[in-house]
Amino acid sequence: MSELDSTKDDLIIPFHLDGKPVRGRIVRLGPVLDDILQAHDLPIAVAQLLGEAVITSILAGSSLKFDGRVIVQASGDGPVSFLVSDYTSDGGVRGYIRYDEDKLPTDKQPNLANLLGKGQFALTIDPGKAEHRYQGIATLEPSSFAKTAETYFQQSEQLPSALAIAIARHTDKHGQTHWRGGGLLIQRIANAKSDEGDFETEQPEDIWDTARAFVATIGADELTDPMLDSERLLYRLFHEQGVRCFEPMPVHKRCTCTPTRLRDVLQNFPSSELQDMIAESGQIEMICEYCAKTFCFDPASLG
Ligand SMILES: [Zn+2]
Repeated sequence: MSELDSTKDDLIIPFHLDGKPVRGRIVRLGPVLDDILQAHDLPIAVAQLLGEAVITSILAGSSLKFDGRVIVQASGDGPVSFLVSDYTSDGGVRGYIRYDEDKLPTDKQPNLANLLGKGQFALTIDPGKAEHRYQGIATLEPSSFAKTAETYFQQSEQLPSALAIAIARHTDKHGQTHWRGGGLLIQRIANAKSDEGDFETEQPEDIWDTARAFVATIGADELTDPMLDSERLLYRLFHEQGVRCFEPMPVHKRCTCTPTRLRDVLQNFPSSELQDMIAESGQIEMICEYCAKTFCFDPASLG
């Protein structure tokens, strides 16, 4: 069907339920998510939350019909004050999270309410160039990031939506841990015809309710299982309704940091602050907050 092997990680697979008014996308991440989350020494609950934002930006951004970028952000009054993930239509994704380690909850399974607290979720569509950005906002749902995003899709796109996201850490045979993640979004669209040209006789409302109920049954272990590929998972969920997969789209880790960009940031600092930033090496070090790459500058070259 396609040149890409759909059983591999780091792919998005768009799909339709055949002849039914339901479309969706599934994304499964391995090395890309591991790279993003391992770039920083994040506590497990914080890494999981950032992973959920990364999956959300991919699920939202992969529906763009033009070259552009989707930015998912959340801010709150809890121990995690801010997070952001952006996805560009070439499949590049990155993420960053700001938190106060001392205030993190000690529960084994923290929820959104005790991580981000009360706050807002925002999704920005940036078409690039001089075109206007669009931003929609939703209130954080205490239960989960996925629930918040689901509500956002429902309200802003006015499309009934169901979303499942899971992030997990797996240990390989060498004892190394790796992050994996999976997400599945379905949306109800205008009524469709099946490939055979037959109109569906089943009520669209019933079709949607059934599809949504199936999404609710997905286990976190299924979404992150490296042995269960996306097409098999979709078949397991929707085989009774008939599922048609489209060309997979690869995802990669991408950061836009460059020496020039970080130098521009530094040049906005007053010279007294720049003096304070000089390290023992005599250089000023800047660490990209997204990818944790370190850039060194000669103070004499700034200012
Ligand atoms: Zn970077």
